[in-house]
Amino acid sequence: MKDLIQRLVESFGPSGYETAVTDTIRELVAPHADDISIDALGNLLVWKKGSSDRTIMFSAHTDEIGVVVTHVDENGFLRFSNVGGLDSQTLVGNRVRFASGTIGVIGREKGSLKDLSIEKMFLDIGAPTRDEAQKQVRVGDFGIIHREFVDLGQRMAAKSMDDRIGCVVLIETLKRIGSRSAHNVCFVFSSQEEVGLRGARTAAFAVNPDLGIAVDVTRTGDTPEAARMDVSLGKGAAIKIKDSSLVAHPKVRSLMTNLAEHHGIKHQFEVLERGGTDAGVIHITHEGVPSGTISIPCRYVHSASEMVDIGDVEACIQLAEAICQAELTEFPAKSK
Ligand SMILES: [Zn+2]
Repeated sequence: MKDLIQRLVESFGPSGYETAVTDTIRELVAPHADDISIDALGNLLVWKKGSSDRTIMFSAHTDEIGVVVTHVDENGFLRFSNVGGLDSQTLVGNRVRFASGTIGVIGREKGSLKDLSIEKMFLDIGAPTRDEAQKQVRVGDFGIIHREFVDLGQRMAAKSMDDRIGCVVLIETLKRIGSRSAHNVCFVFSSQEEVGLRGARTAAFAVNPDLGIAVDVTRTGDTPEAARMDVSLGKGAAIKIKDSSLVAHPKVRSLMTNLAEHHGIKHQFEVLERGGTDAGVIHITHEGVPSGTISIPCRYVHSASEMVDIGDVEACIQLAEAICQAELTEFPAKSK
């Protein structure tokens, strides 16, 4: 599984430009799926047919935070804007990679260390003039933070664990349910989450599920002097209670808790004070969808080195698989 994680986290996929990621996932899931399609916004919809009349939608986003070039000056330096919630404090000295493979170093103007706004930063791709720079990068080009995957044993760090690790959870769940799916399951690999849950919104409308589950990373409170948060790396799948986008449906929360207890799946509960996931738009599609989120605990979210624990990833897969095989008596099928 670590090879799969490395392959996905090192892929290029800023919001709106997720094709390299969806192409890879499509190839990986093809032998296990009953139907695969890509919609106009770049969502990859992977179906597994089941024997019941109910439909579960899982969603993990393929996009990652990045930058977009806004200006090239006469000396070849590029100015940029954020794509999604870039943490400006983690940027200086990092590198940006463009789809073409061009790499730039992030520098900053003189000034107070307290002012680390993106407006004071620039990208240096090693080009001495505007003309030379524009042979490689143009205004409007999207880039990602360039950083390789590192295997630390039980834990791993990389850029875009948010949310390629969620994509891995869905791929593994699909593989493990094999031909035994009790329900119709649509695994959505959603686009443009980082800029406002956009892909999942249209995917949820199309799928019109009876139960919605987002799979995404969440923050932890287990590092030195961290903000107080009752989630730790290594303590299992985090069952979402609430974030800024969603109050998890009480029946979904109970379903996940009961399944975790019944199957002995390591779990914890998550209240995220700021932030949201695809479940934020799934639950308000059509006439409403009971929804929840399986969260993968992750340190240093939205940095170049997001860290997860392989045991937590495994627990999330087990929980997702258990949902696919559960009776779901509390979630009747809509008349569609
Ligand atoms: Zn995410």
